[in-house]
Amino acid sequence: MATPAQSRLPTQEHLTDPCVHCGFCLSTCASYRILGTETDSPRGRIHFLKAVEAGELNLAAVADHFDSCLGCYACVTACPSGVRYDQLIAQVRPRLNDLQVRSPWQRLLRQALFALLPYPDRLRWLLAPLRCYGGSWLQTVARRSRLTRLFGPEISAMEALLPPLGPSSFQDGFPLLTPARAPRRARVGLVLGCVQRLFEPEVNAAVVRVLAANGVEVVIPPRQGCCGAVTDHQGETAQTRALAKDLVAAFAKVVGPGKSAGAEPLDAVLVAASGCGHTLKHYHRILERDTPWAEGGRPFAGGVRDVQEFLAELGLSAPLQPLADQPLRAVIHDPCHMIHGQGITAAPRQLLAAIPGLTLTSPLDAGVCCGSAGIYNILQPEIAAQLGEEKCEDLTATQAQLCVSANVGCTLQLQQGFQAAAKPLPVFHPAQLLDYSIRGVGLSRFSPGMASPVSTLGHASRSL
Ligand code: SF4
Ligand code: SF4
Repeated sequence: MATPAQSRLPTQEHLTDPCVHCGFCLSTCASYRILGTETDSPRGRIHFLKAVEAGELNLAAVADHFDSCLGCYACVTACPSGVRYDQLIAQVRPRLNDLQVRSPWQRLLRQALFALLPYPDRLRWLLAPLRCYGGSWLQTVARRSRLTRLFGPEISAMEALLPPLGPSSFQDGFPLLTPARAPRRARVGLVLGCVQRLFEPEVNAAVVRVLAANGVEVVIPPRQGCCGAVTDHQGETAQTRALAKDLVAAFAKVVGPGKSAGAEPLDAVLVAASGCGHTLKHYHRILERDTPWAEGGRPFAGGVRDVQEFLAELGLSAPLQPLADQPLRAVIHDPCHMIHGQGITAAPRQLLAAIPGLTLTSPLDAGVCCGSAGIYNILQPEIAAQLGEEKCEDLTATQAQLCVSANVGCTLQLQQGFQAAAKPLPVFHPAQLLDYSIRGVGLSRFSPGMASPVSTLGHASRSL
């Protein structure tokens, strides 16, 4: 057990000082909404930190109340005093990891997740036997009979999140360079993401097609790994730094004079998962102490854009067609690392509003986390499941016919939440809708749940 002196934080009074304990942040705090306890709210946690800073409290004694935080940053958006809780929790998490106060099972689970999730090749090896299971009758039976609960809530949560796995989950299959299919307007790099390339490979494929159709040349380094988002959000600083260095090196290896993707510099480095985008934009912080990597991290982070942010800035040039022969209504789920972490709200709306016949709406509690939060839905499955259920109800109440989410973790969480819903909504990435619209592919082909009132367009028979 750590002593009070060991658990003291480096003094960051300037971060906790602005809190005036007004409580405006409470209603948007996901953990407070479920647990209902001040100790699991931003205000309560800041109160703890002040006591820890003053040497009056042992951080280890309140570790659970920091582990219950989703790191969604909704409190940062809500706070009128400008409290940077995101910076506070980023400092606390590595300290919590050092204290070693979690249960042996939680430590083992975290180690296993950090050893697997950021490494697509390892994860593919592990998932290969599950390829026949995902989406099969066996999975349906296991879920309905709740057999998976015998293995404990965390394993059960992982099983519930597992989507059907196709051949594209097991290979990236992108060329190093995809040329623009219209007069060239930009040249970008693309980060594939580790979880996204396995569990939502069709999103990256859609992104590449949309970019190429809009006159963007796309460079995809073949040996790229994880950006470090999974470990960064959990305060695993050393592993995050190693992953960040590898990713910067993967791009430097193919772009530059005499390199395989050509000497011309990239206009931006894009990513289609908001959790990854948030971390990539912080490479200057992550690599600041790693000379000479700091030199590479700063311009890399400065060039990172979410795909939607980039396309909205560039402007769509490819003609768009309706997704159905009747008007469609889509509800936008704003991922926390998109709205609170990166401040992006207008870009997805601007892009999707350009699709003929598509109207957009937002849920009532748009700023509240869906419970995904990186690996939170595995580490804290009960709280995450309740948040997922509430979010799905909120999305369904809009009477929309489909849901849009630009983060793979949220998509998996929502798909799981909709499994038990009376009216499940299909969930798409904005890039998928743009891709279908550009190619004239009707939506009912992809989602049996949308058979009514949406019908397939006459031009929807084009092959993928
Ligand atoms: S973090 Fe901000 S909103 Fe929350 S109690 Fe403190 S001052 Fe108020
Ligand atoms: S980051 Fe999210 S869960 Fe954590 S205190 Fe802030 S609002 Fe609550």
